[in-house]
Amino acid sequence: MKEIVIALAGNPNCGKTSVFNALTGMRQKVGNWPGVTVEHVEGTAKYGDTTFKVVDLPGIYSLSSYSQEEIISRDYILDEKPDVIVDVVDADNIERNLYLTTQLAELKIPMVIALNMVDLLEKSGRKIDIKKFSDLLGVPTVPIVATHSDKTGKSIAQSWLGVEGGMDVLLETVEKVAGSEFDLPRSAQHINEIEDEIEKLSAALKVKDTDDIPLRWLLVKTLEGDAEARNRLLAAAEDPDRAVTVLTDTENHIRSVIGDDLETIIADGRYGFIEGLLRETMTVSRRRQRRDMTQKIDRVLLNRILGIPIFLLMMFASFWVTFNLGGFLQGYIEIFFDKLSAYLSGVMPDGLLSGLVIDGIIGGVGGVITFFPIILILFIILCWLEDSGYMARAAFLMDMVMHKFGLHGRSFIPMIMGFGCSVPAVMTARTLNTNEDRLITIFITPLMSCTARLPVYALFVGLFFSKNGAMVILSLYALGVLLAVASGKLFRKTLFKNAPSPFVMELPPYRMPTFKGTMIHAWEKTHGFIMKAGTIILAAAVIIWALATLPYGVEYGSADSLAGKLGMFFAPVMKPLGLSWQAIVALIFGLSAKEVVVGSLEVLYGSNAAIAAAFTPLTAYVFMAFCLIYVPCLACVATIRRETASLKWTIFACSYLLVLAYIVSLAIRLIGKAMGF
Ligand code: GDP
Ligand code: MG
Repeated sequence: MKEIVIALAGNPNCGKTSVFNALTGMRQKVGNWPGVTVEHVEGTAKYGDTTFKVVDLPGIYSLSSYSQEEIISRDYILDEKPDVIVDVVDADNIERNLYLTTQLAELKIPMVIALNMVDLLEKSGRKIDIKKFSDLLGVPTVPIVATHSDKTGKSIAQSWLGVEGGMDVLLETVEKVAGSEFDLPRSAQHINEIEDEIEKLSAALKVKDTDDIPLRWLLVKTLEGDAEARNRLLAAAEDPDRAVTVLTDTENHIRSVIGDDLETIIADGRYGFIEGLLRETMTVSRRRQRRDMTQKIDRVLLNRILGIPIFLLMMFASFWVTFNLGGFLQGYIEIFFDKLSAYLSGVMPDGLLSGLVIDGIIGGVGGVITFFPIILILFIILCWLEDSGYMARAAFLMDMVMHKFGLHGRSFIPMIMGFGCSVPAVMTARTLNTNEDRLITIFITPLMSCTARLPVYALFVGLFFSKNGAMVILSLYALGVLLAVASGKLFRKTLFKNAPSPFVMELPPYRMPTFKGTMIHAWEKTHGFIMKAGTIILAAAVIIWALATLPYGVEYGSADSLAGKLGMFFAPVMKPLGLSWQAIVALIFGLSAKEVVVGSLEVLYGSNAAIAAAFTPLTAYVFMAFCLIYVPCLACVATIRRETASLKWTIFACSYLLVLAYIVSLAIRLIGKAMGF
């Protein structure tokens, strides 16, 4: 009857003790390793006729000689020479665990890998081609689940990995390997410089019999800077003095060639070997792949320092594309409507009807429809970002910033959407859980500069600020955001005193959105705009036209028209802001849709030159600011009414914004005047 000595080696927590218990049952002897307080456990196992003596070595990550555990494990293996090393590898952390394996392999002692925790491997959706893995490594590998020693281990090995596994197979394999015509383990090749030097050194050192310790292992360890290995090597050299010189020369040579320390280079070699081995033998389920990929992407996109700048850059790029591409398409639609007007005024007799169609409907509705490409493109981009999973990250990033202002992290999505159009933006506030968080978000969302405000900015920038137009527009966007955030804080201090509700921000895995899906979502969010053009804006256009025309016989758009009277009525209140009655009328009409402001001004003034004469740069800026802040368009007000399900809150929101607009515009005017503008 023979006895085979098995040494269990492996990382801490890889399940060695579990393997040991599964193999030996109660037949254990516990003591300490000689001279140290590290536990020494030994036991016996039986399989068929064979008895196995099993030694549970201390858990280690590497075979160096830095710690007591490492020295004990290593000396035991080198000096006591077990018949077989059973390398317990935690399959769930296989990359890290194999680092020790690559070093054990260099010892050229018969070895078996007990691939433990394959239950976790199955759970995480990773598979290893065990046969290929064994062949490439030159080490027979047996999948096991040490904590459920036989049944589970066997069945998972069979069903998930398609090979025999479990403790019996492990012992059978150990027995075969111990007989040992078996392939010895293959070890990592290092980069050429090192392999060359190892070869030269083996020749130059003229090492005597190294007492069964493989020379290659000693050399690699010595190059790694392992003092103990170096001593063993020198002790075995024929001419130790010369060996020292040769060794030092080699080390200096490698260092100067590679310019990095040898320990790192050799470790890199081992990790490279592991990487290659796993790439060939491990497959990862799609779900797992997505998760891994998501983690990699998030390491950049959710980076503490880079995250927010990347986000701002993405937003900037989105707007840039939107306005460049969209503006380009908008030009074509404008040309279409110009042609249409020209054609109609040619074929229609002058009179009320042609005025209604050309000035009222085409001027009003057409002018608004030209913005559709801009809005559609912006939404295609935003929907793509949302469907890909990025918008959830944006909200995650902003959560901290928002919290400082008493805002909920999720408020951020509606706010971003608000740059497009407040209507869907107000609707997305539904994703907030508590009523308070939702109301605050709804109240501040209209302060984001929606695309409908852009024509107003564009008009005045063209007339007054052509030199620093981008800065002026940026300042208006920033003004909106600042007021939104400040209002949020104000509401939180006064109306809604509960802190924002805690919540978990879901971070779904990234997905490549499908073209169709993105288009459908974008359409869902924008087709309302076309509806708006056909209903509210059409109606507003007709009314403006009527007000500017009536009473019958007055000059179209003059102070005598109903529109003029309306403007004059509000003029005293608006006087401190320095706005003309036409501007006031435009603002009133703008309630139907902000785009209408531009059309109204043009109708009432008749030409851009007249507008330029009626404003100063300061009043132009005041007008733009007022336009940004005051009551949102009717569609948005209706949405607020629907989403808050409260007339009271709707009136509150509108009044708040109107008062805020007045105060801020007045402040801008006074400060501007004081500064001499
Ligand atoms: P050692 O530090 O290498 O001796 O590891 P232990 O045997 O103490 O095991 C560490 C932890 O892993 C313990 O909580 C074990 O229950 C657990 N464990 C060991 N083997 C397996 C396994 O095959 N599957 C699972 N799921 N857990 C295991
Ligand atoms: Mg243990």
